[in-house]
Amino acid sequence: MADVKLTTPEEAVAAIAYLASDVVVSVQPSLASDSDFSSHLKQLAAKKAPSLVATSSDAVPEIQSVRHNTDPLLSVFTPIRAGRLVSVTTTSSILLPSVAHLYKLANFPVVLHVALEPKSFPDYSAITSIRNSGWTFLQSWSLQEAHDIALTAHALAIRSGKGVIHFFDPSSSASAEPVDIASVDVIRSVLNLDNVRRFQSAPIAGASIYADDGRVAVVSDQPESSLAPAPVAVSGVPASETGPASPTTTSHSSIKSSQQSAASSPPLPSTATTIESTVPIVSSEDIHKYVTSIWSQLSDLLGRQYNAFEWRGAAKAETCLFLFGSDVTLFSDAIVQAQADDSFANAGLLIPRLYRPWLGATLLDAIPKSVKKVAVLERVSRKTTKWGPILIDVLTSVKSAAGGVETIVGHQLGYISKETVQQALRGVFQNLTSEKPVQNLEVGEREAPEQPSEYGLEKPKLETAYTKILDQLFGTRAFIANSLESDNAGISSTISATPEFGFGSLLARKERRKKFVGEVKAAASSGQFLTETPKRALANWVANSEDVKKSEEAAEEAVSKLTIDNSRSSKALLEHKHFFRKQSLWLVGSDAWSYDLGNSGVHHVLASGENVNLLIIDSTPYSERAAADANRRKKDIGLYAMNFGNAYVASTAVYSSYTQVLQAMDEADKFNGPSVVLAYLPYFGEHDSPLTVLQETKKAVDLGYWPLYRWNPENEKKGEPNFSLDSERIKKELKEFLDRDNRLTQMMRNDPQFGGVLSEDFGTEIRAQQKRQAKNAYNQLLEGLFGAPLTILFGSDNGNATSLAKRLGSRGRARGLKTTVMAMEDYPVEDLPTEENIVILTSTAGQGEFPQNGKPFWDAIKDSTELDLASVRFSVFALGDSHYWPRKEDRVYYNKPGKDLDRVLANFGATRLADIGLGDDQDPDGYQTGYQEWEPKLWEALGVANVDGLPDEPPPITNEDIKIESNYLRGTIAEELKDTSTGAMSAANGQLTKFHGTYMQDDRDLRDERKAQGLEPAYSFMIRCRLPGGVSTAKQWIQMDDISNELGNETMKLTTRQTFQFHGVVKGKLKPAMQAINRALMSTIAACGDVNRNVMCSPLPAQSKYHREVYECSKRISDHLLPTTSAYHEIWLTDDDDKKTQVAGDAVQDFEPLYGPTYLPRKFKVSIAIPPHNDVDVYAHDIGLIAIKGSDGHLEGFNLLAGGGMGATHNNKKTYPQVGRTLGFVKADQVHMACEKVMLVQRDFGDRKNRKHARLKYTIDDMGVDVFRAKVEERWGQPFEPARAFHFDSNVDTFGWTKDEHGMNHFTFFIENGRIEDTPEFRMKTGLREMAAVHKGEFRLTPNQHLILSNVADEDVPAMKALMAQYKLDNLQFSALRLSSSACVAFPTCGLAMAESERYLPVLISKLEGCLEENGLRQDSIVMRMTGCPNGCARPWLAEVAFVGKAFGAYNMYLGGGYHGQRLNKLYRSSIKEDEILAIMKPMLKRYATERNEGERFGDWTIRAGIIKATTEGRDFHEGVAEEESDEE
Ligand code: SF4
Repeated sequence: MADVKLTTPEEAVAAIAYLASDVVVSVQPSLASDSDFSSHLKQLAAKKAPSLVATSSDAVPEIQSVRHNTDPLLSVFTPIRAGRLVSVTTTSSILLPSVAHLYKLANFPVVLHVALEPKSFPDYSAITSIRNSGWTFLQSWSLQEAHDIALTAHALAIRSGKGVIHFFDPSSSASAEPVDIASVDVIRSVLNLDNVRRFQSAPIAGASIYADDGRVAVVSDQPESSLAPAPVAVSGVPASETGPASPTTTSHSSIKSSQQSAASSPPLPSTATTIESTVPIVSSEDIHKYVTSIWSQLSDLLGRQYNAFEWRGAAKAETCLFLFGSDVTLFSDAIVQAQADDSFANAGLLIPRLYRPWLGATLLDAIPKSVKKVAVLERVSRKTTKWGPILIDVLTSVKSAAGGVETIVGHQLGYISKETVQQALRGVFQNLTSEKPVQNLEVGEREAPEQPSEYGLEKPKLETAYTKILDQLFGTRAFIANSLESDNAGISSTISATPEFGFGSLLARKERRKKFVGEVKAAASSGQFLTETPKRALANWVANSEDVKKSEEAAEEAVSKLTIDNSRSSKALLEHKHFFRKQSLWLVGSDAWSYDLGNSGVHHVLASGENVNLLIIDSTPYSERAAADANRRKKDIGLYAMNFGNAYVASTAVYSSYTQVLQAMDEADKFNGPSVVLAYLPYFGEHDSPLTVLQETKKAVDLGYWPLYRWNPENEKKGEPNFSLDSERIKKELKEFLDRDNRLTQMMRNDPQFGGVLSEDFGTEIRAQQKRQAKNAYNQLLEGLFGAPLTILFGSDNGNATSLAKRLGSRGRARGLKTTVMAMEDYPVEDLPTEENIVILTSTAGQGEFPQNGKPFWDAIKDSTELDLASVRFSVFALGDSHYWPRKEDRVYYNKPGKDLDRVLANFGATRLADIGLGDDQDPDGYQTGYQEWEPKLWEALGVANVDGLPDEPPPITNEDIKIESNYLRGTIAEELKDTSTGAMSAANGQLTKFHGTYMQDDRDLRDERKAQGLEPAYSFMIRCRLPGGVSTAKQWIQMDDISNELGNETMKLTTRQTFQFHGVVKGKLKPAMQAINRALMSTIAACGDVNRNVMCSPLPAQSKYHREVYECSKRISDHLLPTTSAYHEIWLTDDDDKKTQVAGDAVQDFEPLYGPTYLPRKFKVSIAIPPHNDVDVYAHDIGLIAIKGSDGHLEGFNLLAGGGMGATHNNKKTYPQVGRTLGFVKADQVHMACEKVMLVQRDFGDRKNRKHARLKYTIDDMGVDVFRAKVEERWGQPFEPARAFHFDSNVDTFGWTKDEHGMNHFTFFIENGRIEDTPEFRMKTGLREMAAVHKGEFRLTPNQHLILSNVADEDVPAMKALMAQYKLDNLQFSALRLSSSACVAFPTCGLAMAESERYLPVLISKLEGCLEENGLRQDSIVMRMTGCPNGCARPWLAEVAFVGKAFGAYNMYLGGGYHGQRLNKLYRSSIKEDEILAIMKPMLKRYATERNEGERFGDWTIRAGIIKATTEGRDFHEGVAEEESDEE
């Protein structure tokens, strides 16, 4: 730090505090915005600059950032008691609220550096108010002094063992020249490290901050090196000419306690402190002695001198100004530059540098004997006594001593500027020298120019989410008393935003309305109106004035009658017409209120019993809950309020359940008494993305840290439970509360599923216990066996390493070994040294990372310094893909986890049984190639290579086996649905449920956290509906909306197969959801699985009549290809007594005429496009049908394409996306038959061995199109006709209004990535539901995941437009890129996702939009798609530009797809991250804008420009990619 130039006092202070502390508590306006100190502190910490007082030479001080309104000094207790030196950087705004802590902390060597507020006109009463708290106070008033006094403060704190407050007005150094920081040697010597070590080595054990541990600061036994008086110097004046020198401490020891500071409140000991036998308490003299010694040292080392009281001016001055305030330089300059005839020409200036302890004797010594009159100027706006505190101090000291001072006059110092200082001085001296000086005369302006407070109140933008909901719910009826925006004339926003003020103003508002009701009542019975009608209306209103709804209606009537009447009385009442409405009164606060419930207004509101509502927003992120200091006593406001007994209480989280927030706020409003709505909105900083907030919320709610609940004490009277739990789990404290009143038992009686909801204590060693139990169980199992032990661990994300490990385990057992197989994460690492033989099989995730269930093991061993594995033998087999990261520099990621393990185990002294085996997906048999070589070596090393009579291994169970075994898709699904001990289903049933339209998933946002808490993953189910052509009635829409709210996660996804998909349906709700879907006359059968899936059809809003004809075909095909098993009805649609089915058609018919017992080898998809629209991506499906219109304008038939498909596997060239090939034309009435025959050929010839090669595209490619066609024709009994001509021009949707040939209207909404949900900003879901409630036509889901409001009659258009406008659903002002984009679901629910998709694509597009704008491309449609994995759900391979997830945050980029879906794209770059994507896309878009030909599409241009080669069909998808892989190692 030697060359550092310090430019502001805050920077100087931060630099010293950093070097002289173990911990710096940095008080900030908010965690998102820095203070004037914190930016410097963070810079130092970022550079890892070491602290000079740290116990080790390289230790960096800990910077603890704390919000100014969260009781910041609480953070000091824990570290200071632990023997760590703590300093605090803050503004003066925190001092008064922290007074209780100040008294406690005074006897610790804490340093508080305080920048006085408000800036440029600081209020020194922040200092004088706490002058008796026992601290030492030092002040500085220039940049250089800030540096020196900061250092003094730290040295003094260390020497005296007492707290020191260093305060300063930052604005007084505004134009100071930069100064140097003192050298490390100087700082070190001034701090005195011996004293530092003495303090650090004596921590105080475990007392709570409220216990009085009896600590009293005691005098250091450090002998003082120099107590010599320092010569006094004033700038520009030789020391000899200035006032008297500082005295030694002993010379005035006769001055007694009235002149001593309250800091020395313990009885004063003898001043001969160093020879007392008992350790003496620190006295004022001690402080003075130490500080003088420190200043003497500074003088020797730096040449700058300081004194307890600084005198500036002539030694023979007769008048003197005692200044306590800013403007020291201003006043001293004015005095120095005074004209001879100025009344203050020969005056002196005296300023206290050491304000407490107040050393009266030292003050007397500082005042020249010539001084007769003293004017005291103090800037103290809040006085509790008539006389200013400084005046009293000076008077007491000077008057009690014999001296020359005759007159002391107090003045109140206001705002002074350079221009007004002389005038002010004249006024002061005129008063001072007058015969009868006026006491307390005001000098300067009362008000300074307005300056924003650094710690001013600003509502974090994120927090507006909840106030928006208040607004939406109650509209203008909502009144937020302490809103920062509210206009409170004459009251500062700091005060008006306080809970006390807000509560008071709410009460006043209630009172005012009560009065108004009285006035209206009186008016209703008076004869003051011109007409009679207002009376009746007013009387009616009075009768209903407390009822929200009725008063509203009555108010309308009353206002209209008063307006007509127009009398004076009417006008008077109308002036306050806002009181006619019953307002919803709210007070909004933050979790800062939970630190001190008594003072925060929470208690007042509860105790008052008044009908007001508190909304308290908690923003502590779940991930930081544990990092919070345990001593920071944040209270559970919810519990506090529930214990109070008279309040409505709700705990909500908008990012978890939007509807629950609505419900809670509505109930709070209706509750006649105090209500507390706690609202969770966790964030780390203002610029957190909604995704971060969402993920933190989910974790907190899921694990019961932030349970969602509602508590209504009135419910009991109605015979309903007071408590409703709206989330799954609750935390311990809440459980205890419910237990106390037996409420939990009641709740569980009503709702038995809550039995297992209680979260364990956070931080307990649940996982450790589980591991131990699992291991013991194995050991017991093995005890009876003989043979050498072999422990096999696996780390696996996709199951390959797991299966290998399990198979290795059975083979080991067959060879007589005592074999244990377990996941790496389930293994207690402390047992490792006791193993004899250990084998680890691990796959590779992301960029050379361990798979999820391997990470904890690796984390535990990688940095261990203690493991001794000398007696352990081991071997590792690694699974990876040598081409996954094709760039040379990324080759290190290939099988990295396995290689790392191999190296680290060997380093710990373990012996290799066999060299590491490397399984490579690129080898002819994939990882099996390497495995075949490795396994025999292992058996060899274990001495069991040649064992006779090994049993035959059972073949692995395949999907085909599961299908055959399932008894027409029954399996044991029905039994497992009844098992409430787990939220999961077995793997085999999991495969079968797909045929029924549902997949098991788990929330990947929660995986790690739940694992850490010892919980199974958050399992839930995705349900996909079967909805041919994507046509839904308005009623069905409402039914779907209900299902998502009541049984799912409150959202719906409109999918790329034109259907509804629900997520987050837990096992217990699966059957009710299936039944509800069937009641809505939809089904889910065959929405997933190895069968024909939902049949798609272009929605074609512009030609409804023609659409109807084509749509009928899609329904016919769908029905025709439906499986016929009755298992679906049996499992899902039976009543609870398992007897009656819910829909017709329960004939038992276990026969599949089309499918047979093994169904199809793989999924099968049919879609119909209606030219010129290729919105269904007709080339991407197993069967693509292109509708051909006859000359009569009716549907004639279809060109049938076969063998399109999207799924592929990264780097596996045997897999590829493919476009459908034309088989020929087929008449409309025959189309279902032709489809059937295509499907049957696939059924019989598709590959049932290798699911990666099982789709129809591979069957056709292997067979050849002509052979395949012939087989179809053979079964069909007729040939295809030659294909007819057609033309496509786009595969994206056209948004906005269109009219069809019947004159009906259709509106296409833009639904980004098909997600239907409500957010506080955009209530899309509610809006669509309201439209559905009045819509007479239907909805059509588009293949691009958007939505069409179809068939609106002209007369209904205005009403629909009004609703659209109300809910912002008519907004289509998006870039054409966004309108043409599409993403699959991916995280958090899709188990295959390797990267984000739906949650990320909108973010990426936002980052590109500026570039589009710059290049004039905003209106140019470019088809961009993203998927989380190469399964290709959003059909990425047909996009002009596509991103396909490769690893978390990394994507493969593809270019060159055809604009209307006619051509596949090709790999352009592998595994690139956002910065690379932007770096590629931006210049490319710019080039496109300038180089394209008229009408040339982006995909076509990338080929013409030579950026990418065209892919002609799937089999050359991997040829000529832009980024050729190099095979060099
Ligand atoms: S493309 Fe992959 S990540 Fe996306 S939803 Fe489909 S399977 Fe999941």
